[in-house]
Amino acid sequence: MVLPRISFRSFIFFFMAAAAIIAAGVAFYWQQVSGILEQDVKTHVAAASEEAAADFNRLIQTDRQVLESISITVEDTYPWADPAKLTEFLRRQTRHNYFKLLGVVTEDGKVFLSEPRRFSPTFIADVTARTLEAGHYLSVLQADPSDGEDVLVQSVSLRRHGRPVGALFALQPPERYRPLLALSAMGNKGYSLVVERSGVPVLGYHKPDFGNMFDLLEGVSFDGKMTLPDLRSAVLNGAHFMVGYRDGGERRFLHFIPLEINDWYMISALPTLYVEHQAQHLTWLSLILFVSIFIIFCALIFYILHMRAYSNRQLFDTAFVDQLTGADNFNRMCEQFEEKLAGLNRRAALIIFDINKFKVINDLHGYERGNQVLQRVARVLRENIAPEECFCRSTADNFVLLLKYTDRKSFRARLSALTTQLRRDCTVEDSCLMIDVAFGVYEVAEDIPFYIMLDRAHLALENAKKMSFDKCQFYDESDRKRIVNEKRIENTMEQALDHGDFAVYLQPKCDFATGEMRGAEALVRWNRLEEGLVKPDDFIPIFEKNGFILRLDMFILEEVARLLAAWNIKGLEQVPVAVNFSRLHLNDSRYIPQMLRLVDKYGVAHNLIEVELTESVIFNNLERAQNVMRGLHRQGFSVAMDDFGSGYSSLNVLKSLQFDSIKLDKEFLSGFEDNPHAHKVIEGAVAMIKSLDVQVVAEGVETREQADFLRHTGCDLAQGYYFSRPLPAAEFERLLKKNTPQTQPPDGTKRVD
Ligand code: C2E
Ligand code: CA
Ligand code: CA
Repeated sequence: MVLPRISFRSFIFFFMAAAAIIAAGVAFYWQQVSGILEQDVKTHVAAASEEAAADFNRLIQTDRQVLESISITVEDTYPWADPAKLTEFLRRQTRHNYFKLLGVVTEDGKVFLSEPRRFSPTFIADVTARTLEAGHYLSVLQADPSDGEDVLVQSVSLRRHGRPVGALFALQPPERYRPLLALSAMGNKGYSLVVERSGVPVLGYHKPDFGNMFDLLEGVSFDGKMTLPDLRSAVLNGAHFMVGYRDGGERRFLHFIPLEINDWYMISALPTLYVEHQAQHLTWLSLILFVSIFIIFCALIFYILHMRAYSNRQLFDTAFVDQLTGADNFNRMCEQFEEKLAGLNRRAALIIFDINKFKVINDLHGYERGNQVLQRVARVLRENIAPEECFCRSTADNFVLLLKYTDRKSFRARLSALTTQLRRDCTVEDSCLMIDVAFGVYEVAEDIPFYIMLDRAHLALENAKKMSFDKCQFYDESDRKRIVNEKRIENTMEQALDHGDFAVYLQPKCDFATGEMRGAEALVRWNRLEEGLVKPDDFIPIFEKNGFILRLDMFILEEVARLLAAWNIKGLEQVPVAVNFSRLHLNDSRYIPQMLRLVDKYGVAHNLIEVELTESVIFNNLERAQNVMRGLHRQGFSVAMDDFGSGYSSLNVLKSLQFDSIKLDKEFLSGFEDNPHAHKVIEGAVAMIKSLDVQVVAEGVETREQADFLRHTGCDLAQGYYFSRPLPAAEFERLLKKNTPQTQPPDGTKRVD
């Protein structure tokens, strides 16, 4: 199966389309990934910040419980009569419990500290008041009054019998709580902050460098329809929520979680930059993956296309290239013929070119050399062929060429030059064997199919091969007509024989001296419906080629035998009848037996049948002719040599064979009147034949002069229109009935009417 070809343009289009789809895919993927990541981050931020808030609450709670448990011991030593003991206890507790400092303030304003410090009375009063107000207290970040370091102050009240007697307070370094605000799960990109509802920062992962959180959010745009006042009131109402906002180019999320202490809030913040980085990272990875797959895919397609082109080329080569010579093969010629012909504006000639007796080269020099010759021929043709022309090797030593054609003269000159080059360049080395080529040319004149043109060139080639030199023949329309006619004849001959369309005509042979009919020659006629009576010259040569003559001759013989038998029955004179037999019978061993069978079937005396064999047949097969003649004589048939003098008459033939009669060819008489030599030749020939004691029959006697002359030379019998044309059997029988002698021609010769 041949796959459809993909052009380079559609490949590029496909490539661009694939690239565009990939780009769109990446963009879509980017968007999706960003969305998913953002959602993911929100969930993470929420979870992480919830956890941080819970931890923060728990730690504060734990520290307060620690303070409360210390306070129980402190309460037990009320009214703290031994300050040194209390101070020592406080110092010990400080060391064990991550406090920077522990202090006890009594209701009457005395202060006991875990280590000596000086606090302002305001600080002490403030802590005491706040603690006693709520029972416990946690301050915002503030400076340690003694050394200025950041601290948180946490305190619980001291009671005695249900009555507040003072406060236990601790200074705590903020580092204890800061790790909870790191939001470490977010790759340290986010942080949390503890603020009061008013927005004032309490504690941050870093030390807050602003006075109010809400001031920082001034002018930013929040997601959805949220405004800064909305946010403020949400915080004041203790709402638990998350919001995204954009500040300049940067986008963040804020998670607001109310804490359990002091109406504080924990706010966790994460810049979406983190998300974008993650998305970018992922997208790049995917892009690289996509592109790699795409490249592999393209490489694969390219490979497939390449392989396909390669296998197409292989297929093309096997289908269209002659493996021996590398030239186009016949299929290729058929395929491109019309296109090439159009390219030459139909001013072209189709040539079949053949190496004569190529088989001899193979036989004498081996196939290897034979192949070499063919390869060289192909090379020479390739050199001599213009790009718009073409040629192929069609069969073993046959090449078909389609060449530009202008006029016959220059075309002949071109082929002649080609022949010279072929002879020079393609001759087998180390041998005197020159290749001999023949060209059959069809000038493209009609709009007919390629195979018909090819037939015509073939016909021309057949004629060219018959020539002895300059073997180049142009197709002639009459050749075609001849062939068509031959075909028609061949197609109808069998039927014609069965239907009795062949008829016997009889032409009398007359005695010169008396004019009496002495015999006849049987001549075949073909009664064709559309053409009427057809003369044998039109079909005998064809029947000789295809062998049908063997049957036809026997048919004529049988007809003759039947006539002779009928004449006998009718009481008519049985004159000997000559039947023409083709040369093909000489090589047929059944010839004489068949004759006998037919003649005997009608009980006809053998001496009434005369066999006419043409001179050329006898000359070519002297020995066979001798054998056959002997056989015929043995059976009592007489034998005549037909057409004596028409071809290579050899006196040797006359010497070697014993003929009963010899028929002088009618050509002897042509130009007889104006040619004095002709008289002498005929006289000599007749005298010579008569001297061999063989009967002489003159054929083609048409005029009285000819008849007079021939009678005078001593010819025995005359056959010719002057005496009678060949007649249908019925007419001939009428002549027989009139009985001899027939009407006397003038001057002593007798004519048959
Ligand atoms: P052929 O055997 O030489 O026959 C004589 C031919 O000369 C006949 O032509 C005849 O009609 C013709 N002819 C007779 N008198 C004259 C004349 O005065 N002037 C001219 N110009 N021609 C004359 P036809 O019948 O056309 O036969 C042609 C040839 O066909 C015969 O030549 C013979 O060779 C062959 N032929 C005819 N019948 C048969 C047959 O049954 N078998 C075979 N094998 N060949 C036959
Ligand atoms: Ca004859
Ligand atoms: Ca003859």
